[in-house]
Amino acid sequence: MHSKVVVIGSGPAAHTAAIYLARAELKPVLYEGFMANGTAAGGQLTTTTEVENYPGFPKGIMGQEMMDNMRAQSERFGTEIITDTVTKLDLSSRPFRYSTEFAPEETHTADAVVIATGASARRLNLPGEEKYWQNGISACAVCDGALPIFRNKPLYVIGGGDSAAEEAMFLTKYGSHVTVLVRRDVLRASKTMASRLLAHSKVTVRFHTKATEIRGGADGLMTHLVVQDAVSGKEEVVEANGLFYAVGHDPATALVKGQLDMDADGYIKTKPGTTFTNVEGVFAAGDVQDRRYRQAITSAGTGCMAALEAEQFLSEQEA
Ligand SMILES: Cc1cc2nc3c(=O)[nH]c(=O)nc-3n(C[C@H](O)[C@H](O)[C@H](O)COP(=O)(O)OP(=O)(O)OC[C@H]3O[C@@H](n4cnc5c(N)ncnc54)[C@H](O)[C@@H]3O)c2cc1C
Repeated sequence: MHSKVVVIGSGPAAHTAAIYLARAELKPVLYEGFMANGTAAGGQLTTTTEVENYPGFPKGIMGQEMMDNMRAQSERFGTEIITDTVTKLDLSSRPFRYSTEFAPEETHTADAVVIATGASARRLNLPGEEKYWQNGISACAVCDGALPIFRNKPLYVIGGGDSAAEEAMFLTKYGSHVTVLVRRDVLRASKTMASRLLAHSKVTVRFHTKATEIRGGADGLMTHLVVQDAVSGKEEVVEANGLFYAVGHDPATALVKGQLDMDADGYIKTKPGTTFTNVEGVFAAGDVQDRRYRQAITSAGTGCMAALEAEQFLSEQEA
């Protein structure tokens, strides 16, 4: 099969790109993946409950429903959606060549590719984590911090970098107190962030401390955290109604490793203000190229940019 443009991914970035490309009559083919990178088709929002900060939904919308709607909108304008994972992608010459998990023997080609494979938050696999994930545990304070379950409650953040500091500062608006657990004896966050954090009256930073278990109540919500002093090994059970992981994200870039320029953490590098990668005809959108904002709306925004840039690229090629 040869396509003008292929979109890889199925989150807000991929579907926004597909909607624009389909409306431009470029007949995009979108590979939504089959548990690709451990995430169901539809992306990260399929793992959450209510999304309250995406404009246009004043009453909020369930993450799964939002992604079902985006998928339906892509299809409505003629996107061909394939439930398969792209496992090989050769960007060394045009047309680009790729194959998929369910038909590895077939090679397909495309004139342009939008990479929107997303990212996933790192987890710690602590006892209780699976049970209380999204029932007290979150990897995104901006997404979940304002939920009623966290209001005026003791909250914990794990991590010592800039993200952890930012998440903790953000959570001070909602929690009764925010404790940051740092495994080492120092914060990796920038000096300014670190001093703002340490000076905040609603924040305590506990160095040499790690979480070892999450516990909850009969209502299924997290209520306590077991923390351990890394030096003495002493454990303590603390009241905690929220636990925010800020231990990094893994962008899904194994497919293009060695082919596209990436930063040290594997995020695809794009030319600032665009979705251009270092390979002409390959565009990157969404969390896979965004280590900073990682929101549905910013993913959708860059998905739109990728589609408009791909469209222009294709028309220049034709001319
Ligand atoms: C629990 C949780 C709650 C959140 N809540 C909010 C919120 O309230 N508001 C908000 O704005 N943001 C929220 N976010 C963040 C938001 O979900 C992400 O910023 C957004 O989904 C990123 O979109 P994306 O299009 O980059 O890709 P993703 O949503 O990461 O989706 C990428 C998809 O591509 C697929 N894929 C990967 N590799 C391949 C491949 N090789 N072939 C085919 N498919 C592939 C993956 O399986 C995945 O389904 C939340 C995130 C999480 C985890």
